Amino acid sequence: MAKVAILTSGGDAPGMNACIRACVRYAIYKDLDVFGVERGYKGLIDNHLNYMNNRSVSGIVQRGGTILRTARCPEFNQIEYQQQAAETLKAYGIDNLVVIGGDGSFRGARDLSNNCGINVIGIPGTIDNDLAYTDYTLGFDTAVNTCISAINSLRDTMDSHDRVSLLEVMGRNCGDIALYAAVAGGVEYVLVPEVKYDLDEIASSIKFSQKRGKTSNMIVLAEGAGDKDEICTAIKQKTGISVKTTTLGHIQRGGSPSMADRILAAKFAVKAIDLLLDKQTNKVVGIKDNKIIDCDINEALSKKREFDKELYDIAHNLSL
Ligand code: ADP
Repeated sequence: MAKVAILTSGGDAPGMNACIRACVRYAIYKDLDVFGVERGYKGLIDNHLNYMNNRSVSGIVQRGGTILRTARCPEFNQIEYQQQAAETLKAYGIDNLVVIGGDGSFRGARDLSNNCGINVIGIPGTIDNDLAYTDYTLGFDTAVNTCISAINSLRDTMDSHDRVSLLEVMGRNCGDIALYAAVAGGVEYVLVPEVKYDLDEIASSIKFSQKRGKTSNMIVLAEGAGDKDEICTAIKQKTGISVKTTTLGHIQRGGSPSMADRILAAKFAVKAIDLLLDKQTNKVVGIKDNKIIDCDINEALSKKREFDKELYDIAHNLSL
């Protein structure tokens, strides 16, 4: 019987568990033997594999995090460690591997396929939504919903005190979490790494809005778009108004996955297993224009991300 191993790698994201569950159950339904690898590539090098059955993934669809755990494994950049990982898989008679993670994890998957002959399929699992070939990554929707809850709570208290508030959200060099949260949360200003912003303009707009009777102003800052303390100091200097800051941090990485992430997890998993059954390798799955797609890993990694300027303009125009 053909065998498949599953691992999660890099930063965890809500929906990884739902995806593990779907991979395991669909692979078993398709008569594959399934193994779970603990702690990403490190578990492959250290031989931490466990046989999985349908019961191994009971009661996890609603849980954040990853039951397989995840890890960073810098030594995996070196071919000798990739070969060691491949030896582990070969010792179990496993030719197929599903890797759930971000761009770094995809690079590792590509190397394992190219250098060691393992069939690999990548599933995009990262809250950052920073992969160009797919409209959405697993975990992004849940992370944005977490930000929206924070925005709602902040708005309650800021309104009561006529305050200005800045919420820093994650996303590394990608502004999508900030942008989507800002539009969905009705936020006045969104600062993202993809668009140059003008603090003079923001400061005078805040002053003007207060004159017009606005009771609160909110800024959502993507972590890659600047230093929150410097921004607050500049606004205070220009307006005399002090800005209350909140950093949401790792709360965005946890929590029960949203409906959208659970459905995406199931669809990605089925596509990944079907590709492996079709003897394909070095591919990643994604979603484009609401359709599940696959794409060559190298092509996926070399694509340049297009920022959603249209949505950014909507955010701006609705905030006036
Ligand atoms: P993410 O997958 O979330 O982007 P990282 O960038 O930390 O997270 O990558 C996760 C792991 O993938 C790394 O710890 C390493 O084991 C592996 N990896 C990253 N880049 C490469 C690479 N260029 N070659 C081989 N393996 C890599």
